[in-house]
Amino acid sequence: MQVFHGGPEEWRTVRNPTTTTLGYALFATRWLQAPLYFGLVAAQGVYVYKFFKELWTLIKMCVSGHATETYVMLAVLKLVDVVMIANLLIMVIVGGYETFVSRIGLQGHRDQPEWLSHVNSNVLKVKLATAIVGISSVHLLQMFVDVHHTSRHALLWGTVIHMAFIFSAAILAYMSGPMAAHGDRGHADRPQAGPGRAAPPQVEQDHGDQRHGKPEQEAPAATPAVPRQPGPGPGPGPDADAEARIRAARFPARKLLEDFDQQHPRGFDRETVARLGKAEFVAARRNVVLVGPPGTGKTHLAIGLGVRACQAGHRVLFATAAEWAARLSDARAAGRLDAELAALDEYPLLIVDEVGYTPFDAATAGLFFRLVAHRYERASLIVTSDRPFGRWDEVFGACAPAMVDRLAHHADVVRLDGDSYRTRRATSAWAD
Ligand code: ADP
Ligand code: MG
Repeated sequence: MQVFHGGPEEWRTVRNPTTTTLGYALFATRWLQAPLYFGLVAAQGVYVYKFFKELWTLIKMCVSGHATETYVMLAVLKLVDVVMIANLLIMVIVGGYETFVSRIGLQGHRDQPEWLSHVNSNVLKVKLATAIVGISSVHLLQMFVDVHHTSRHALLWGTVIHMAFIFSAAILAYMSGPMAAHGDRGHADRPQAGPGRAAPPQVEQDHGDQRHGKPEQEAPAATPAVPRQPGPGPGPGPDADAEARIRAARFPARKLLEDFDQQHPRGFDRETVARLGKAEFVAARRNVVLVGPPGTGKTHLAIGLGVRACQAGHRVLFATAAEWAARLSDARAAGRLDAELAALDEYPLLIVDEVGYTPFDAATAGLFFRLVAHRYERASLIVTSDRPFGRWDEVFGACAPAMVDRLAHHADVVRLDGDSYRTRRATSAWAD
């Protein structure tokens, strides 16, 4: 259990030493599994040998002119079979090691498998089940190709077993949907209810900021100020992935940099925002701080930058400061603050919106300090606030200087100045 008193310097960590040592000792036994994965690597080697042996036989048969069409087809199917089993093996080796033993740290590696960034035992199970269905289809195909040498009995059982694999894969896929959603919610949901707690996250709404129960009208078509970012690549794959990341980021509304009217804020650093729009700050583990009075478009820009980061292949998570406070407080109460901070490392970009609307007590301010300190030079934050750093002591008390120091060290600070865009629209609606 962790108890916080005052600022970060005064934090004390109170733990029951016996429980902790026992827990850590048990946890360390996961390394016993490591040799198993290396054993599987050896099995992978066996498959490589088997593959080339089959290939060599096929080549020899073709060269000697003994290979019939059926023989070639069967031999190729056998090769495909070997490759598919090898794929299955690598999935178990890499995914299993990453899930159950230790992080491999492939984030950002250009060969990182798409599924590895969100691997968990559910994902792994479904991937394995579909791989097994693939292998069994190849087997069935082999039987059909060689139907004259396959007994009806074998054919019947081959088909039944294949159907059973399909059925179990479908059930696993169906079950992993709700489970993943549940797990995701457990991780990503901004906690709700209770005094001082933030409103629950809204399901994504396009062009509507209704988080505070005030439905807004559609934003007028603003001059597309920031050039449209080209998609990350042709084809539906990367776009679909970006879309999935955008959905998972839990933005309260879909706001794009392209829709931000640069003429509106009186003070606005166009170049910096255009540069930040390339999302390179995420890979560079830099922070962005958007400061300005209410309604000047801080949340809009934060979401717009978040969307760009999703399109650039990064996972992003959005929540208001109050929601982050609730989430971190819950984690601390459950004694798993460190684990929660480590889990958030999965997100190269976190967005903390609306810093300053609620002052935090010392313990909660301490939690924010932990978040900022944990991500310092490790991962990015976008923070929006209605007050400049100089007034953050009003929100975070004694924690403010140490926190600002870390947050601002590698940060672009964008100041927005001017009238509220909300009021401007209300005023012009009155005038009409
Ligand atoms: P803040 O977070 O600074 O209080 P928001 O980003 O929530 O302000 O902006 C309020 C509303 O006005 C949002 O619907 C936002 O999309 C819109 N808005 C603000 N500034 C602009 C702008 N310059 N161009 C287009 N829409 C804007
Ligand atoms: Mg806002």
